[in-house]
Amino acid sequence: MTERFWESKSLSEMSASEWESLCDGCGKCCLEKLEDADSGKVYFTRIACSLLDSDSCRCSDYSNRKQRVPECVVLTPASVGELNWLPKTCAYRRVAEGKPLPRWHHLISGSSESVHQARMSVQGRVISEEYVHPDEWEDQIIKWVS
Ligand code: SF4
Ligand code: SF4
Repeated sequence: MTERFWESKSLSEMSASEWESLCDGCGKCCLEKLEDADSGKVYFTRIACSLLDSDSCRCSDYSNRKQRVPECVVLTPASVGELNWLPKTCAYRRVAEGKPLPRWHHLISGSSESVHQARMSVQGRVISEEYVHPDEWEDQIIKWVS
């Protein structure tokens, strides 16, 4: 990988390994979301996709995620700018917007634990969708993801 590639390359210029390493492992994009039909505003819930490992905050079957969860949104350089619900902390969103990576990002800190230590991940704060009836999702809306 090119050193500090995220500062010199656009998303579309990154190699596959650079692209994958850019993910901060926060797990926020794997939370279920509700959209207001009138305003279009998207609300995050603390309900996690059934494949999310709530400890590591990583997908437990990443290579087969789209087959296992058809509604899983696979990010691409083109889609990042269109997904206005991506968290403001999301590394892909930040690079697309020309912003620096935060201190707690593993590419800056050198540790994959720093996202959790900084309380920027969903670690320990979510419940799997298997345990919440869809009628009760609205009760699980959170404000700590934006
Ligand atoms: S929100 Fe962005 S940085 Fe965080 S896990 Fe999802 S894709 Fe990775
Ligand atoms: S399938 Fe994996 S990557 Fe997709 S939303 Fe679920 S946990 Fe996240």
